[in-house]
Amino acid sequence: MQGRSGDLVVAVDGPSGSGKSSTSRGVARALGLRYLDTGAMYRALTWWLLQSGVDVDDPAAVAMAAKEPEIVSGTDPDAPTITVDGADVSGPIRTPEVTAAVSVVSAVPEVRAVLVGLQREIIGEGGIVVEGRDIGSVVMPDAALKVFLTAHAAARAERRTAELAPGSATVDATEADLARRDRIDSGRAASPLAKAEDAVEVDGTDLTLDEVIATIVGLARDSRRVS
Ligand code: C5P
Repeated sequence: MQGRSGDLVVAVDGPSGSGKSSTSRGVARALGLRYLDTGAMYRALTWWLLQSGVDVDDPAAVAMAAKEPEIVSGTDPDAPTITVDGADVSGPIRTPEVTAAVSVVSAVPEVRAVLVGLQREIIGEGGIVVEGRDIGSVVMPDAALKVFLTAHAAARAERRTAELAPGSATVDATEADLARRDRIDSGRAASPLAKAEDAVEVDGTDLTLDEVIATIVGLARDSRRVS
């Protein structure tokens, strides 16, 4: 299957907390494809900027620094990795400090230019499931299958709260934080979160993770690019 699906690119976009990561990893595993979490790349750059004392609210300073760190993403869906200048940052990029700053950093056009370039290099010849906000619309407009994964706000907040440390956030606070990030991600001028015209919308509100994965695997098989 690897050979036949070598050039298949599955783009999975959608708002925060819609289940993109678990879904995309599951689809990659089921189809024998690689997996790329582009959100982790924006988080890694944000982590590095905060560590380096760059004012993340100053777009000019962020733009100047965007090329400095070397961000490397591993694409094994069973064990995805992310390093900055050789250091494993898979834990630190999930802290509340990074989560609070990542959307303003991602809105800076120079940041997007650098990371979209890296993403296209990794995608290369394909054979990969790529999750993000702008994969079907900007990064890989020619992707064979584009999915826009949604879920009602309350369902997304409940799912995200369950992933956090017990007692660290209420569902209401998480829902407000997701709404804030969605607002910035959808409202920015540079490649905003948007459903590509030819994307298939999958609403996961009332589906289990396995059902969402099976739906997307079915769509990929229907696209006749994999057996
Ligand atoms: O997917 P995740 O929630 O980890 O993404 C973190 C942030 O990175 C998003 O809120 C968004 O601001 C940014 N992002 C982006 N474009 C992508 C992926 C993520 O702007 N393709």
